[in-house]
Amino acid sequence: MEVKTSLLDNMIGVGDMVLIEPLSEDTFIENLKKRFDHNEIYTYIGSVVISMNPYKSLPIYTAEKVEEYRNRNFYELSPHIYALADEAYRSLRDQDKDQCILITGESGAGKTEASKFVMSYVAAVCGKGQEVNKVKEQLLQSNPVLEAFGNAKTVRNDNSSRFGKYMDIEFDFKGDPLGGVISNYLLEKSRVVKQPRGERNFHIFYQLLSGASDDTLKKLKLDRDFSKYNYLSLDSATVNGLDDAASFRTVRNAMQIVGFMEDEVQSVLELVAAVLKLGNIEFKPESRCNGFDESRIKDKNGEFCSVHFNYHSYHLFHGFSFIFLFLQDNSFEQFIINYCNEKLQQIFIELTLREEQEEYIREVSNSQYMKTNRKWSSLNVCNSNKFIARYGVCSKLVFSSKQSLSTICFLLSILPLSRCLLIHLSTILVYICPLHVFCCLTVYHSLLNVVYVVMAPPTAGFQFRASVGTLMKNLLTKNPNYIRCIKPNDKKAAHIFTDSLVCHQARYLGLMENVRVRRAGYAFRQPYEPCLERYKMLCKQTWPHWKGPAREGVEVLLKNLQVPAEEFAFGRSKIFIRNPRMLFFLEEKRRQ
Ligand code: ATP
Ligand code: MG
Repeated sequence: MEVKTSLLDNMIGVGDMVLIEPLSEDTFIENLKKRFDHNEIYTYIGSVVISMNPYKSLPIYTAEKVEEYRNRNFYELSPHIYALADEAYRSLRDQDKDQCILITGESGAGKTEASKFVMSYVAAVCGKGQEVNKVKEQLLQSNPVLEAFGNAKTVRNDNSSRFGKYMDIEFDFKGDPLGGVISNYLLEKSRVVKQPRGERNFHIFYQLLSGASDDTLKKLKLDRDFSKYNYLSLDSATVNGLDDAASFRTVRNAMQIVGFMEDEVQSVLELVAAVLKLGNIEFKPESRCNGFDESRIKDKNGEFCSVHFNYHSYHLFHGFSFIFLFLQDNSFEQFIINYCNEKLQQIFIELTLREEQEEYIREVSNSQYMKTNRKWSSLNVCNSNKFIARYGVCSKLVFSSKQSLSTICFLLSILPLSRCLLIHLSTILVYICPLHVFCCLTVYHSLLNVVYVVMAPPTAGFQFRASVGTLMKNLLTKNPNYIRCIKPNDKKAAHIFTDSLVCHQARYLGLMENVRVRRAGYAFRQPYEPCLERYKMLCKQTWPHWKGPAREGVEVLLKNLQVPAEEFAFGRSKIFIRNPRMLFFLEEKRRQ
């Protein structure tokens, strides 16, 4: 049971944030940094895994590592994403509990990579056999396909997912995967026609042009030269470290494994080619007739397109006079993505607290639960709305274009009466009309005294809201596991740890609150067996073998060591330790 040494080793920091003494934002960040410097990219907050992006490949995802973490207790080994994957998989297989794994973090923090590590771990430890292997292979190979069509190089991440992914994997009673359903959310479609400076279109376009054979390109009537296509921005067409040609082969192969027939693959590629060519069509304005705006295709006479703009449909609100400004690029989509993240964040806070409360109810006495509950209340995290109102949730106000976006925090308060969402920021007030959620959004900028109105087709908002609602409902029926990803720097570089950036992310991920909730009652808990195993050497009655139940062994042990009774609570299956210092005390004793 190397666990404790790895959790408490001072050289590499503590493996579980609840053990930090004293706890402050500084010590929290310092601990992450210490661990990061030693390539220890994973750290726990209880059962939550914090994952720091190392921006370099580490030898910690090998088959040997999988074996090491397989069927081991969560706290037994040093923190690892495999420990979480193993715990989730085993609860599903052995206790028949549906699991969900929520992976959050900002762009480039490592969510996609984390999801792949979890999937490959589960694939490695679950059943074998031809049929099962085929299912596994299909699930794993869905990644390259989805990434080709849904990922792109952005300023913040060379392989940024421009969609949200929800993957449902079904297992049979033996724990073998039966199949999976992947739902995608909010694909950033606008990227096809326009990309911000320094960013690329979706990978597939570059992959096709770089990797397809001359023959294929000829059939598709495509030119290998990116610069021939309006939709492929030129300033960043190639990306360091990305081999588009090789990726194309991987994607083609993956499509085959996932189950595309050869003619279907062809159709998909034809579609990709058609999009590229559509982008090259140029229009020229024509004179207005009958109140319609008309455009003609520049170089081909005879084809006729008519676009009808009905200015009156952008109706005015409440008698204000507005200046209409359509915000640049994809800010509306980004706003929606932020909304989704806020929602997930809210769920995270609700669920961690609920989980903590449930464990107390399951394991310890009611009076202890009530006592701790009061502490939680005083932390103001019992009710997520209250929590958000008090601490605020940082987000990026992308629609406020030139502001220093990363530093803007705004408070969300949810008003039950009007069901309006009001977001206050010292100078900006955002009002989202409840009836047309996201179809109108007004930003008042009191300093400049202008009002921006963003319009979007109502359907996008409604669809989105409905799908997020379903997603949230679905998540709430499952046992949650959390991976909180953090990026160490803005340079996509290894070995650089920017304190302020990490601190900012830790804040909006609510990690400190998370530690406080966990420490409000008993900071540390562990099943009786491993606890006895580790400390039985400290007492004659338990050493070398304790014959009775492990729980009684632990009771004898602690009594013998004269540990004050209030420092512990005996749960049904676990010992609860109030103060991390007690753990240090036991460790110290072991060393003597
Ligand atoms: P986005 O929200 O933009 O999709 P993300 O959180 O999914 O971002 P990833 O694409 O997973 O971020 O990670 C960005 C890059 O960081 C990866 O392409 C990879 O180079 C590196 N990276 C992330 N996690 C790890 C890891 N555990 N080990 C090595 N490199 C990593
Ligand atoms: Mg991603």
